[in-house]
Amino acid sequence: MNKIVLASGNKGKLREFAELFAPLDIEVVPQSDFDVPEAEETGLSFVENAIIKARNACEYTGLPAIADDSGIEVDYLLGAPGIYSARFAGENARDDDNLNALLTALTGVPDRERAARYQCLLVMMRHSKDPTPLICHGDWQGRILQAPMGDGGFGYDPIFWVPQTQCSAAQLTSEQKHAISHRGKAIRKFIEEIQHANPS
Ligand code: IMP
Repeated sequence: MNKIVLASGNKGKLREFAELFAPLDIEVVPQSDFDVPEAEETGLSFVENAIIKARNACEYTGLPAIADDSGIEVDYLLGAPGIYSARFAGENARDDDNLNALLTALTGVPDRERAARYQCLLVMMRHSKDPTPLICHGDWQGRILQAPMGDGGFGYDPIFWVPQTQCSAAQLTSEQKHAISHRGKAIRKFIEEIQHANPS
C-alpha cells in the first residue's frame, strides 16, 4: 500500500501532512484530487469524526484513507471548543474568527486559568468497511495567550503559548512545530505502526 487519500480540505493540515510524510515511501493524495465531498462531522468525539471522514474518503475513492480530527481544549471552558474548534465562531468561520471568539470567551481570565491543549486523532482505514481502523493519538499542552503573537502555523497557533519554547506556536518554524505538536506525535506513532505491520 503506497497511495493513501488524505481526508481533509484544511490547507494548514494538508501542508503539515505533506511535510511530515515527505520521508516516507507513501504517496499522500488530498481528497480534493478525487472530488470527494466533505463528510458531515456528526460524531461526539475526535475519534468518531476521524473515522467518519476516513470512511467517506475510502467510499468515494476505493483507496485506503487517512483522516485526522483535531482541535483545542481549554480547561476554563470545560474542554470547549474541542471537536467544534473549526466552527467555534459558527459554520464556515475562518481561522481568525475562531481565534477571536476564543479570546472573547476568555476575556478577563488570568494566565494561570488558561491551560489548554491541542488534540489530534489520526485514523487510517484500508477500505470503507475496515473493522480495525488504525488509530493514533497525540496531544500538546500549552496555554491560551491574552493576544496573538506571530504569524506562522494556522488556526489557533498565534494564541497558543508553548512552555517548552517560550513562544507561541505561530512563532515556531514548521520543523520545530512538527517535533513537538499533537499532529507530529500522532503521525510518528502512525509511521511506527505502519512499519511494524509491514517490516521491510
Ligand atoms: P477539523 O478539521 O474538524 O479536525 O478541525 C480542526 C480545527 O482545530 C482547525 O480548524 C483548527 O481550528 C484547530 N486546529 C487543529 N490543529 C491545529 C494546529 O496545529 N494549529 C492550530 N489550530 C489547529
